[in-house]
Amino acid sequence: MHRRVVVALFLLAAGSLPAQQPAQQPAGGAPPRPALRPFEEVTKDATHREGFFDTYEKDGTVWLLIPKDRFGQDFLMEMKLAQGIGAANLFGGTMLSLFEANIMQLERRGEQVFLLQRPHRFTATGDAATARAVELTFGSSVVETARVASFRADSAALVDVTNWFVSDLSQISDRVRAAAATGPGTPPPVPFDRTRSYLEGVKAFPRNVNVRARLTFRPSNPVGFAGVPDGRYISLSVHYTLAALPEVPMTPRIGDDRVGNFLTVHKDFSQDDSTFYVRMVNRWRLERGEQVGDQWRPRQPITYYIDHTVPERYRASMKAGVEAWNAAFEAAGWVGAIRALDLPADADPDDIRYATLRWNVSDQPGYGAIGPSTVDPRTGEILDADMLYEASMFANYRNAWRTVVNPLSAAQSFEQALGVGEFTMENDRAEVAGFAETFAAQGSVLRAALIARGELGPNDPVPEEYIAQAVKWVTMHEVGHTLGLQHNFRSSASTAFAQLHDKAWAEANGLYSSVMEYPTPNVAAPGRANGYYYTPGVGSYDKWAISFAYTDRPEDAQRIARGAAAKAHLYGTNAESSGPGALDPSINMYDLGDDPLAWGRERSALLRGLIDSLPAHVLADNKSHHELTVAYQSLMGQYAQSLAPAVKYLGGQYLNRDHVGDPDGRAPFQPVPRAKQREALDLLLERVFDRNALVVPRAVLQRMGTNRWFHFGSNTTNNGRLDFPYHEHTVALQASVMAQMLQPFRLAMIRDGETKYGADQMVTIPEVMSDLTRAVWSEVWVSTAVRGAEPPRRDLQRAYLDQMTQLIVRPAARTPADARAVARRQLTDLDRRLRAAQAAAPGLSAYMQAHLEESRARIAKALTAGLEAER
Ligand SMILES: [Zn+2]
Repeated sequence: MHRRVVVALFLLAAGSLPAQQPAQQPAGGAPPRPALRPFEEVTKDATHREGFFDTYEKDGTVWLLIPKDRFGQDFLMEMKLAQGIGAANLFGGTMLSLFEANIMQLERRGEQVFLLQRPHRFTATGDAATARAVELTFGSSVVETARVASFRADSAALVDVTNWFVSDLSQISDRVRAAAATGPGTPPPVPFDRTRSYLEGVKAFPRNVNVRARLTFRPSNPVGFAGVPDGRYISLSVHYTLAALPEVPMTPRIGDDRVGNFLTVHKDFSQDDSTFYVRMVNRWRLERGEQVGDQWRPRQPITYYIDHTVPERYRASMKAGVEAWNAAFEAAGWVGAIRALDLPADADPDDIRYATLRWNVSDQPGYGAIGPSTVDPRTGEILDADMLYEASMFANYRNAWRTVVNPLSAAQSFEQALGVGEFTMENDRAEVAGFAETFAAQGSVLRAALIARGELGPNDPVPEEYIAQAVKWVTMHEVGHTLGLQHNFRSSASTAFAQLHDKAWAEANGLYSSVMEYPTPNVAAPGRANGYYYTPGVGSYDKWAISFAYTDRPEDAQRIARGAAAKAHLYGTNAESSGPGALDPSINMYDLGDDPLAWGRERSALLRGLIDSLPAHVLADNKSHHELTVAYQSLMGQYAQSLAPAVKYLGGQYLNRDHVGDPDGRAPFQPVPRAKQREALDLLLERVFDRNALVVPRAVLQRMGTNRWFHFGSNTTNNGRLDFPYHEHTVALQASVMAQMLQPFRLAMIRDGETKYGADQMVTIPEVMSDLTRAVWSEVWVSTAVRGAEPPRRDLQRAYLDQMTQLIVRPAARTPADARAVARRQLTDLDRRLRAAQAAAPGLSAYMQAHLEESRARIAKALTAGLEAER
């Protein structure tokens, strides 16, 4: 998330006034201002709304009435995209500053009013002298200004704030620019068009005032989104909330790095800690009410309201998803801490007093569901939460390949599971982009498995009982975010692989120990009884993390955190699961159980079986043959994702968060046993690089292609082709897996592992490379048994030469030099085998002869160029 850039520091330098000082007349020399019009005249015929601020609205103008004593007082401001374009990260209902409300103040100087953004991250709570130093160092940004229009009799100032909100105050233009970008590089500016922008509405409630504005931006080139009717104008609605801060700040709970809470972080310069960081857990305020046994009923339970927009058939599952969290609060000593109610008919979800679950429609699937919350930046207290579900998420899940227009390719799915690319906080805080697509693809696994088992006809959608499990899980997950919990992508490792279909285990501990997991449907291997498809309730980790954050006895929190080593409390989050530095094979999205290799082997075999039998199960009378293509792609994407964890075993280490002396405390890093590294390498070689790994039956291949619709939103050629580019897709997946096995950090971690744990503890770089070479070039490995390679195999072999040549000639930054040397040796050895193959099998096809000749020429060139590059 983009943070507001501090554009102007308002320094309290000598001679200027402290912020709270009452107004003074303008300095001498300024031209005299016209006298203010009477209050009654300005507000005549305006709509008056009483609320946190009183507002007046007339003819597209909005005035705030600011009582005298409100100047200099802190309040919250939050900005939300109310209506987007249903695509390109511009989705209605998403926060513009996730978890990051700003603290604002209004200041009046004479007849001029200023909106200030306070530097709330920097504090000094311990001593007055440091507090003064902080005050001197960090000033507010002055973000808006307006002239007082009139004064009411009690001196309250009436200010026209229309231009504060009909503006780019939110900096939404940054996202519009990104959406309008036509290619890589810095996108051109997208100017704000004031003449095509206007005030849409004002709402006032006791604790907040909302202003909504329609903002138009003009891209330099027209954009082509279905949700933008005229591509020359991108119009969006931005929703501003000005809200009261709690009168008495909540007592913060200090966070702990063993537990996965969202944090509100300050730098407190009166701290002894040299980093000055104070990390406060985001949590709701619970106060003791009635005592029940040794537990307490909160005076005010956390209440979520189901909005009127939510379809009736999903409401029961959503309520169950909210109230499932009571099990976690009971572990923390609270009964009846959380409940779900229908939103009262006269209530408005924009009222900050109502935390809501809402429904939304979008053109392209984006986030699936999100759970943003409003947090008091002073203490971490969660004040409000409005969860949003995309309707298409469940429709796509239910109908799986029926509704998906452009499924991700297998290579894209694989890279998505590994979070290839840099990890960013933005990904951490919005639901990871593409989750909705993955969710739809997961529906394909379930649907295909049910069809193959004969439990579902090829024409039937996934039955409601399965959807109900998915809706409940999604709700538990999003509610978990709004209770202050981060993702836990390690929680699947709390359940033994053998127990995945043990319903009693799942009910007691969770199918994964946290609903903050990104799971995949738990589908049994053929012939085995199926357990829960999604976890039936909150798990052992969830109970532990809620206990830590919400226990009413602060002295217990540290004792609770010291239980991090228990298998029931395993925790690892986004930053540890994604990107090139990911090294713990137990921290994954989309896997199940404590043995990702056993699970990957079982799941990929299940998917292979489903893909091979697709025509028999998918093609229903009078349905389009195209459904087979989308089903194939969805299932191949899942196949690729089931093997993604295996890559992390190479050079892998388990990450532990235990502190020194914790019960059963583990070392911060533990090497993955060599036998498991070896098993992972074998799995990848067998399921990705083996001659038969990705072969698709001709009965499937011959039917695959694009759909036969050509209209907006359905331009679905495959890079211009009408049939399915099987070779291209297959080799793209293999090349992607190979690139991840050979990426610089992976190779460096293998080599460092040899130093840290001993070479005999690691599957070394020579072992990885020679086994990969042998698998990719199996056709020529033994010269006396040379076989002709099929076209996709030759393409794979070319991809191998591409990557090895790059390693030798232009290695990526931070590639260990040893890797380059070993790659060189691989090519030298390979060339010897290719020469022998040429000699031993003169009867090879023209394709194969050409391929061998070309490969040898490329190797010769790479070896020479590599030596030149090293000089
Ligand atoms: Zn999430």
